[in-house]
Amino acid sequence: MTKTTVASLTPQRHRRPGSHPAAVGSETNLGRTRRARRINRTLTVVFPDAHAELDFTNPLELLVATVLSAQTTDVRVNQVTPALFARYRSAADYAAASPADIEEIIRPTGFYRAKAANLIGLGRALCDRFGGEVPTALEDLVTLPGVGRKTAHVVRGNAFGKPGLTVDTHFQRLVRRLRLTTESDPVAIERAIGVLIEKREWTMFSHRIIFLGRRVCHARTPACGACPLAYDCPSFGVDGPTEPAPAAKRVTGPEREDILAFVQAGEGQ
Ligand code: SF4
Repeated sequence: MTKTTVASLTPQRHRRPGSHPAAVGSETNLGRTRRARRINRTLTVVFPDAHAELDFTNPLELLVATVLSAQTTDVRVNQVTPALFARYRSAADYAAASPADIEEIIRPTGFYRAKAANLIGLGRALCDRFGGEVPTALEDLVTLPGVGRKTAHVVRGNAFGKPGLTVDTHFQRLVRRLRLTTESDPVAIERAIGVLIEKREWTMFSHRIIFLGRRVCHARTPACGACPLAYDCPSFGVDGPTEPAPAAKRVTGPEREDILAFVQAGEGQ
């Protein structure tokens, strides 16, 4: 971890709950853009290894894993995909698969009947319309069974290097808590955040925000008092503890010690 700290990134410490300009409706558009980009820079330091948490080695595997990730965790998907990917290696393999065989493998991910049907439909659509390859265009990807904009952006961003904002449940919760937007519709959120963050940063910004959502800014009781974005967040203390000790207990994940060290280094300055 570098010596960059909370304090050096956000010297204008708005720490009292509710005191942030965005919390009282006095933030300008320019101020919001600057804050959004500062948030991205802070998260770049805190999560230098942010990445898609689904395991894959090619676009088809990522597409399949992302379809399976609906209504479950990436950890659970990663538990079933080794067996699935070993048995089904191409779109044609999925197209020719028996539903029962796929269901048996993916059962732990939930909604396994619908997901198996989607994977077989996906294989058929890829063979019928795209020569067995995963297309790169957003408008093509969203025509595939089980594939919405979120999945399409995950695949484009992580398998093809095309910038995209992945508006999942964590992303929606965080950008609203951070008051980067008040929109609730995923497409409207994508549009609003796309204006604030540089296009080349879209994919990584999504990963960083989702990392923070999984480790610090939980849906219930976020760890505000141990959050690297505390000074830039108008929701500091609204739903979670502001005291460092109880907040630190709520920080999770392999980066936990680094996150706490980063925040504590800022406090000491
Ligand atoms: S944990 Fe608290 S301070 Fe951090 S982003 Fe979430 S609401 Fe804001």
